[in-house]
Amino acid sequence: MSSIQQQPPGIRGQRAARNVFRVVGVVVLAAAVTFLVLGLEDFFASSDSSDGPHRFWMVFVGIFGLAVAGWCLQAGFMGAASRYVAGETTPVIKDSAAYLTDGEGILGVGRTVDDASAPSATNATATGPFCSKCGTRNDGDAAFCDSCGAALAH
Ligand SMILES: [Zn+2]
Repeated sequence: MSSIQQQPPGIRGQRAARNVFRVVGVVVLAAAVTFLVLGLEDFFASSDSSDGPHRFWMVFVGIFGLAVAGWCLQAGFMGAASRYVAGETTPVIKDSAAYLTDGEGILGVGRTVDDASAPSATNATATGPFCSKCGTRNDGDAAFCDSCGAALAH
């Protein structure tokens, strides 16, 4: 009971709806694939005969079902998908920020080009690894950080 009370009421409803979307999505997807297979089977089986396919409408039901299933699954797995996307893109954003700020971290985003060439910026032309301790970019062949002296991983 206490764990439920700690959550905002909207979260519980969302979680239940998400489970419904997942179950409905999977069921509709299975039904849609069944309809598609039956409809296409009938279509190809009857191409020899003279009276044409009678169950070809099943293909359209199947396509419609696939769309509904896709929407349900998207709604049901949106949270998981966006968490996955966030996990995949965050390191890229971090790397890009480190690259753009010459190793000074995301807080250096506002720095200007003049700032980077100022004496306070160490080794602005370096192209090697970033120091894991202080974030300074070092020369490619450097074994130790120019700024803090920490050993660099290669
Ligand atoms: Zn360092």
